Amino acid sequence: MNKAPVGIIIDGKTRPSVAGRTFEKRNPATGDLVSILSEGDAADIDLAVAAARRAFEGPWSRFTPSDRQALLLRFAELVDEHFEDIVMTDVLDIGMPITRSRGRRGLVSKMIRYYAGLATSIHGETPSHSLGDDFFAYTVREPVGVCGAITPWNGPAIAAIWKIAPVIVTGCTLVIKPSEEASGATLRYVELLHEAGVPPGVVNVVTGYGPTAGAALAMHPDVNMLSFTGSEGVGEQIIEGSKIGFKRVALELGGKSPNVVFADCDIEAALAGSSIIFANSGQVCTAPTRVLVERPIYDQFVEGLARYANGLKVGNGLDPETQMGPLINARQLDRVTGYMDLGTQEGARAAAGGGRLTGAAYDKGYFVSPTVFAGVDNAMRIAQEEIFGPVVCAIPFDAPEEAARVANDTRYGLAGAVWTNSVQTAHQMSRAIRAGTVWVNSYGPLDPTLPFGGFKSSGVGREQGFQNLDDYLETKSVIMKIA
Ligand code: NAD
Repeated sequence: MNKAPVGIIIDGKTRPSVAGRTFEKRNPATGDLVSILSEGDAADIDLAVAAARRAFEGPWSRFTPSDRQALLLRFAELVDEHFEDIVMTDVLDIGMPITRSRGRRGLVSKMIRYYAGLATSIHGETPSHSLGDDFFAYTVREPVGVCGAITPWNGPAIAAIWKIAPVIVTGCTLVIKPSEEASGATLRYVELLHEAGVPPGVVNVVTGYGPTAGAALAMHPDVNMLSFTGSEGVGEQIIEGSKIGFKRVALELGGKSPNVVFADCDIEAALAGSSIIFANSGQVCTAPTRVLVERPIYDQFVEGLARYANGLKVGNGLDPETQMGPLINARQLDRVTGYMDLGTQEGARAAAGGGRLTGAAYDKGYFVSPTVFAGVDNAMRIAQEEIFGPVVCAIPFDAPEEAARVANDTRYGLAGAVWTNSVQTAHQMSRAIRAGTVWVNSYGPLDPTLPFGGFKSSGVGREQGFQNLDDYLETKSVIMKIA
């Protein structure tokens, strides 16, 4: 307990919260203290938003696109240099296996450089108007202003970059409230941004809890745009907050993604791809939680998945052999084991796992066994509700039309996948699945050029891709009488 409290960062300075309160962050694998963080609330959000407003109206507005590009490229170099710090914060804060955490390096590095590249490509238009030759008219894209961002705990290294990079590119400013469960990566990134030369006040961090600091940011009248990644329920509250000041919102919410496996596929490849459900202990928004398997290979596939689940090494993320870590906290443990019990009550059969892991290696943490439910009907609650744990529901199907109907029979639409060796089936199914991302014969790869986000209750807007910048830019029409 000799750790010094980690402060909030406002105007480039690290400081305690206004109320002087702190909270503890503990390692979910061991219960050990990781850090003591300042607990910000509405008073700290007010200070941070005021700093972001001053920065927006100050010298930052005179930074050219090339200047902002250079800053992001310098930031990318620093992140590359210090990436091991980010790796360790994710391992200790959320229990992420260190091999997975290190594996994020390439995507983070590409992501920052991709956004840097966009900085000099933002442009208005000179439309062919019908006002007559006496008029010259054009459009300009201008930064929307002060942005707020609220992030979840399950993928801190990427989530923070998704919020920070478009802000810098477009010339906006930011107040970011990371999850109380995983603030370490964001705080380190913001230190590196300042080292790269980003002026004070452009990116501010307020650590603290959702209902206090998060809600204050979402409801702040001087925030022009709010980008939120998290659960559906909190997403609804963010929309309520958007009424104050008519702020724009971008929402990246939950999922219950279908992973459709046809009998003609490469089964070994499909098994390896489907086992990604256990990555990050199933705490991934795009996780393939429902595997729809064509009936002739259903039993073989369930058996293969169960074998994979039973063979996983579960443990402390610091051990390089660990393939699956703990759940994030006691609440998540109750929730996931509750769904494991519910699956059996609903009539599904646990082909692997189905409960909490116990024993000396597990008792201080929040560990569950990787679980495969067979005989699942898509109407069951375990197939409809987001569990956010290492639980996969295997559902049989007989025809492609049935697979498409079941795939879409959920209120979510974040992602999905199809495994087949038929080009025709691949095209038909990727068109039929109503989701923001569809993978064919793979599961999970992301690229900064490809927009990422959800249909239906999975969200509003897209991260990544040029389209993402629209959320951060206003369009102004200039109409000039020239004769
Ligand atoms: P959460 O909604 O509980 O919390 C997310 C963030 O919102 C945290 O920073 C939290 O402090 C804050 N928050 C909580 N209550 C708030 C309130 N009343 N007002 C404002 N902010 C508040 O989600 P979580 O448990 O951290 O993350 C898991 C969820 O996030 C899952 O539903 C998952 O699917 C989703 N997620 C989605 C994506 C995506 O890109 N679509 C990515 C990762 C996670």
